[in-house]
Amino acid sequence: MNLHEYQSKRVFARYGIPIPNGDVASTPVEAREVAKVLGGPVVVKAQVLVGGRGKAGGIKVAQTPDEAEEKADAILGMDIKGLTVGKVLVDQAADIRDEIYLGLTIDRARRRVVMMGSSEGGVDIEEVAATMPEKIIKIAIDPFIGFRSYQALELALELGIPTELTRSFTQIASGLYDAFMASDASLAEINPLVVTGDGKLLAVDGKMVIDDNALFRQSMLAEMRDIVDEDPYEAEARRYGLSYVKLDGEIGCMVNGAGLSMATMDMIKLFGGSPANFLDVGGGATSDRVAAALRIILSDSNVKAVLFNIFGGITRCDEVARGILVALDELKTPVPMVVRLVGTNEEEGRAILADAKMETAATLAEAARKAVAVAKAAREGSAQ
Ligand code: GDP
Ligand code: MG
Repeated sequence: MNLHEYQSKRVFARYGIPIPNGDVASTPVEAREVAKVLGGPVVVKAQVLVGGRGKAGGIKVAQTPDEAEEKADAILGMDIKGLTVGKVLVDQAADIRDEIYLGLTIDRARRRVVMMGSSEGGVDIEEVAATMPEKIIKIAIDPFIGFRSYQALELALELGIPTELTRSFTQIASGLYDAFMASDASLAEINPLVVTGDGKLLAVDGKMVIDDNALFRQSMLAEMRDIVDEDPYEAEARRYGLSYVKLDGEIGCMVNGAGLSMATMDMIKLFGGSPANFLDVGGGATSDRVAAALRIILSDSNVKAVLFNIFGGITRCDEVARGILVALDELKTPVPMVVRLVGTNEEEGRAILADAKMETAATLAEAARKAVAVAKAAREGSAQ
């Protein structure tokens, strides 16, 4: 789960990291009110969950509250990389002397949390990483020892932080580490961390990614979730407790169990097809969940065929079959379907589907072969 800039910075502030004064606004008038309270020049910043907002025109400086209203009016509703701006952050403008990059992530190869710093902070850090990787300093953190001030000093030295700011830098770096750990984050970054004209460090931009699997114990962060910016179908899948990942193939898969889903995708590949998604409807799939899953699969226009591969253990095949009929009744899709139902109540399940003109298959290999064939026929049919 990604946090917005304003949310990330509020988390950072709780860990003693200095951030600009500011507030969010959803309308131009609100933006003017925030600017009026702040006094002086402000930056109006699009709150969308993508990087590179500055280059896309989503960040503008305003000298007066009237101008802040104008800029907010221009930015709100703007499309940035496919996302519509619904909120802006109005921050006191910073007088920027220098821009530093400071971030934490998990380095899986090293099996450590790694702090990264670069004196080349600002909007082109990805470019720096690609063309001048030596400009990014990395420090691995031992999980049993934690982040130590000598590591912050080492980083400050490498980054050329002025001596009078090393104390403040150390506080920010260890605050960021504490925020990262306490939030179950997989990313926490400040880009840029600026040196202001009056010689202070200030986190001007912030980004956090929280591990979804930890949200059960991060209720405060979980509440910040902004579903507006998420893939609507992945959000819907989560609402029904389905594990869904969209892929770019053409055979939609509805399977119960993660392992069986993997095996099904492998079989589709083996017979020359390509899966359009990973979807695990889970154990004890009820008809409304099956219906939701089918709706989600069919929302993908690349899908030329759907393969159901259900093993009925706790899940009852008749219940799944009923869910398929509910969904088909609602969706009235021409997309061909192949069904393999095995296990608890499989006869009842097959009987329910008998009238639905679906291909059935006894084995997974047969099901995969048939799904690849009908997808191919559908593709060739639509190409004519
Ligand atoms: P991003 O483009 O999404 O990474 O958004 P940032 O918040 O990092 O802003 C991009 C760039 O805009 C920064 O690197 C700064 O150069 C500039 N910027 C952001 N806030 C301010 C500000 O308060 N004052 C000034 N002068 N520039 C700013
Ligand atoms: Mg930035």
